[in-house]
Amino acid sequence: MKKELCAIEDEVPLVVGLGATRPLSSFHTKQCSAVSLFQRKFFPDSNPADWSSWKWQVQNSITNVETLSEMFSLTEKEITALKSSSVSLPFRITPYYASILYGKDENYALRKTMIPVSDEMIEGFGESGDPLCEEHMSPVPNVVHRYPDRVLFLATEFCSAYCRYCTRHRVVGNKNELHRFSSKSWEKGIDYIASHPEIRDVLISGGDPLTMPDARIDYLLSRLRAIPHIEIIRLGTKVPAVLPQRITPKLVRMLKKYHPLMMSIHFTHPDEVTLESSVACRMLADAGIPLGSQTVLLKGVNDDAKVLTDLYHRLLTIRVRPYYLYQCDPVQGSSHFRTSVNTGLRIIEQIRGFTSGYAVPTYVIDAPGGGGKIPILPEYYQGRDDKYVYLKNFEGNRYRYPDPIDPSVR
Ligand SMILES: *Cc1c(COP(=O)(O)O)cnc(C)c1O
Repeated sequence: MKKELCAIEDEVPLVVGLGATRPLSSFHTKQCSAVSLFQRKFFPDSNPADWSSWKWQVQNSITNVETLSEMFSLTEKEITALKSSSVSLPFRITPYYASILYGKDENYALRKTMIPVSDEMIEGFGESGDPLCEEHMSPVPNVVHRYPDRVLFLATEFCSAYCRYCTRHRVVGNKNELHRFSSKSWEKGIDYIASHPEIRDVLISGGDPLTMPDARIDYLLSRLRAIPHIEIIRLGTKVPAVLPQRITPKLVRMLKKYHPLMMSIHFTHPDEVTLESSVACRMLADAGIPLGSQTVLLKGVNDDAKVLTDLYHRLLTIRVRPYYLYQCDPVQGSSHFRTSVNTGLRIIEQIRGFTSGYAVPTYVIDAPGGGGKIPILPEYYQGRDDKYVYLKNFEGNRYRYPDPIDPSVR
């Protein structure tokens, strides 16, 4: 193993995967040597310090079919999509994330989330470019105000890697949308928030806000923190999973100034919990930032109770609390990713009760048309009569609860 590439291994032993605190496992030793092999093969002029630099990772991200085909033997379906002009979401993947996909074929879960296939060109039943009607709920271009007390602030159109099922692919990676993320547009958004005292929670997303330079994030956070009615600020990001090098001590020191600050991290699959992403999450958690995960339920990727349980267990070991499991939005070109809602319900049934409640996220459908996130649960509540509420537990056994009569709610 090339030692320098895994400089982080010198730090405190880390818990990754299941089990107690332990030093670098053989899994991670293997991972490190695989990464160093990948780097030497495809980036022969780079050195280990380059690999650990997030700017190098962004600058050397793979964005075209030529480079990609040197690394992977691409299928017909992938090549068609990569070359097609009707696939609107650009292709982009960091060298780090590509090293996770390396050596795996087209059936590999995470490859499907990053390398487009021609199914993206199909428009399925009920799909649209803006299923959540965010554009209709934007009082100013980069603010979505759907709920009474909180807003979504779209800070940038850029991501370091583009998920193929992105619900916001009308915006992300789209150079025509740059104007709405200029400093001027930010001002309008900040003004809007400042003049609406009912807003107590701002969720900064995009694009991926952590792809912005420290100074820009610092500026936005300082402006929002200066608004007296803003209680909490949240960042929505996939950076710890696709560009963990971005989580630097300097970034974390800056973020800490803006507490209470929380982070929702987009994790998809247990293979994303690597040594690097674990170190990134540890730094964030040590800075007192509560970490939650958001996962999209995806066919052939993670639509399996075992895979999701494994992901959730691993996330808890790196101090990330599963927050939401999303039914995949009916965004254009998503039909090959979408499972039935029944699949989701069955998966939740197989997780809830069988493991720590902390490992169970809320399964939601973000209602097409702008209804917001609606939680859906397997039928644990089976109805009631005058005396009892009827319940079914995780093992399918029936119970009843003697429900006190409360005339005020009848
Ligand atoms: C998801 C979302 C939020 C945050 O919702 P929580 O349930 O509070 O996490 C806020 N605004 C919009 C538009 C959203 O889509």
